[in-house]
Amino acid sequence: MENNIIREAEQVLLHTYNRYPIVLDHGKGMYLYDTEGKEYLDFAAGIAVCALGYGNEEYNQALKEQVDRLLHVSNYYYSQPVRDAGRKFVKASGMDRVFFTNSGAEAIEGAIKAAKKYAYTKSGHSGFEVIAMEHSFHGRTVGALSVTGNAHYREAFLPLMEGVRFARFNDFESVREQVREKTCAIILEPIQGEGGIYPADPDFLRRIRQLCDEKGILLIFDEIQCGMGRTGSMFAWQHYGVRPDILTSAKALGCGVPIGAFAMTEAVAEQSLEPGDHGTTYGGNPFVCAAASKVFDLYESMGILKNVREMGDYLEKTLEEFVKEFPCVVEQRGVGLIRGLEFTGPVAGIIRGCQEHGMLLINAGTNILRLMPPLIVSKEDVDRMADILGKAVREQQG
Ligand SMILES: *Cc1c(COP(=O)(O)O)cnc(C)c1O
Repeated sequence: MENNIIREAEQVLLHTYNRYPIVLDHGKGMYLYDTEGKEYLDFAAGIAVCALGYGNEEYNQALKEQVDRLLHVSNYYYSQPVRDAGRKFVKASGMDRVFFTNSGAEAIEGAIKAAKKYAYTKSGHSGFEVIAMEHSFHGRTVGALSVTGNAHYREAFLPLMEGVRFARFNDFESVREQVREKTCAIILEPIQGEGGIYPADPDFLRRIRQLCDEKGILLIFDEIQCGMGRTGSMFAWQHYGVRPDILTSAKALGCGVPIGAFAMTEAVAEQSLEPGDHGTTYGGNPFVCAAASKVFDLYESMGILKNVREMGDYLEKTLEEFVKEFPCVVEQRGVGLIRGLEFTGPVAGIIRGCQEHGMLLINAGTNILRLMPPLIVSKEDVDRMADILGKAVREQQG
């Protein structure tokens, strides 16, 4: 059966992914199961999406109830789940106003438009520029790709959006050098995810914040991957103590339903997008908002942030053992439960080895393993991860 599913899927799906030959069927807690019943410990969480793991009953129940009540009405009308998700998002993020989207990339599009509109309102003219970081990742739509610092992703689609200048992450002078009269925003991930799990230096963020304040530039934090508790704070800016003007979220926001968000301070909102400037048909409909709303409740009732801080420390120690034990492991880095383990060579074989031994992991760049378990991970899960990973690394070494 697995082979049929794979073969038939490959006949019809556009070949934009080299998928692993695994057909997943269901999940429970920290585990996923394929169609043949093989169990996988999950340290990928659907790319940082499934923060609550799989099969959380309260979450599932909230979705089922909303399915029976109301899925969609368009953004022409109000509904209670949208009000609830909005209030909870604003409270958790420390922003004042939020716009819900269908995806991360779409949240980036909105953030860029919000920054441009703000500059336009203040100055009375257009033609503004954005500074982004090398090795950043902000998504695959044309606007998001324009601020993504990865030549390989961009090459075939040039020319993209005009007026983007790239600076080096964690190199403040390189950012300052790119500032022009026309600069309206600086966009960055507080912890670069796809680029290889590189946390920002606290001082880098503080100096950028100061630069933005001096020059009237908006600071946009892309927290699509590193937000929603992954650092042990609800959002990474709270971990760093540097507040952005505009913030994007997605991935774990819905824990599996497609919802993203861009949010901003009141000061930005007052001079930014107005009726007619932006919209979405599905974005933030009652169904996905009921899910996000329940996610915020469960983070509190389950003590998710506390678990992330404790398990983040434990995972860090565990990964440090790998750095000591294996010459092929260069270093570990990250914050909380967003961690990278860098090797001297490609990690593809290790990922396949882990799969054979019953564990899912992904990479972030050729040589970097990315460890992003569901935020409900326990010590036993981390120990089991270490057993399996150790086996896979030893086998790979020959
Ligand atoms: C995943 C990701 C995106 C894009 O989100 P999609 O939902 O895939 O469009 C943008 N920024 C960051 C930091 C991400 O990790």
